[in-house]
Amino acid sequence: MIPITGHTRLTALLGSPVAHSISPMMHNESFRLLGLDYVYLCFDVNETSLTAAVEGLKACNIRGFNLTMPNKNKVVELLDELSPAARLIGAVNTVVNDDGKLTGYNTDGVGYMQSVKDAGYDITGKAITVMGAGGAATAICAQAALDGVETIHIFARRTSRFWERTEKLVENINTTLPCRAVLHENEDKKALKEAVSQSALLLNATSVGMAPNIDASIVSDTALYRPDLIVSDVIYNPRETRFLREAKEAGCRTFNGMYMLLYQGAEAFRLWTGQDMPVQEIKAKYFSE
Ligand code: NAP
Repeated sequence: MIPITGHTRLTALLGSPVAHSISPMMHNESFRLLGLDYVYLCFDVNETSLTAAVEGLKACNIRGFNLTMPNKNKVVELLDELSPAARLIGAVNTVVNDDGKLTGYNTDGVGYMQSVKDAGYDITGKAITVMGAGGAATAICAQAALDGVETIHIFARRTSRFWERTEKLVENINTTLPCRAVLHENEDKKALKEAVSQSALLLNATSVGMAPNIDASIVSDTALYRPDLIVSDVIYNPRETRFLREAKEAGCRTFNGMYMLLYQGAEAFRLWTGQDMPVQEIKAKYFSE
């Protein structure tokens, strides 16, 4: 650890709960490796205390902070500016403080898109199918649209609390970007079959299959899998969900959500420090399989 001095810049995570987070390890180790005079701390802050926390940290000239559940949406109203992705998504997971001006970013989508590249794939100009319409799905769909994915098929339950919000996202993508987004109902099995058959990549962006419910999979029809389909999951606990296991058994290439987590952090790190996170060292230390 670099000694804390009178010059040390503060970065932080605001959420509840936060004690389990890997972010302090990944950021503090990166600061140490690069000799940067920064520190990253976790604060248990919920929706009730968020405004006071943000005002207080701004008054203390914090360099920036991450937001996790339940603060990613509410923080938007406390900021001065939003990045194009954060505006499209309506949620922020990273804030940069430039002398009292707070700018909100969403690095979850950037993190996912980087994890696709890291796994050796290029999905620009291609179609993808995304299961889910929550926070992770929204961030990924918006970033995929911004990064040149050609078509995004989004599947959600008609009863989802995110249905209307996703209809708006789809409309925004279709009217402002050269990408075609389509929202389908999960129950529409014919549409799912057609969408997956046209897609280069199928993603689970729901919490289905996450520990402790490891026997569940968002896809019940394993006949959808074909060997040239890339299949990925935002979940990293367990490392291999039932969804990924069944896809792999059918010959698909698969990867989990671990490096999405790494790269969303790396992008926040870059926004705060202007430097690249030493991802190889951080991967080896905290993200080994
Ligand atoms: P969220 O906003 O609560 O969204 C959850 C999504 O899952 C919703 O679309 C929800 O649909 C769907 N869902 C849940 N149970 C379902 C079921 N039984 N059948 C069909 N759909 C179901 O949560 P989130 O923040 O997007 O997180 C989703 C997952 O992503 C979590 O496992 C989280 O750990 C993971 N995640 C990973 C990273 C990473 O860096 N790798 C980052 C963020 C999140 P309804 O609205 O219909 O309930």
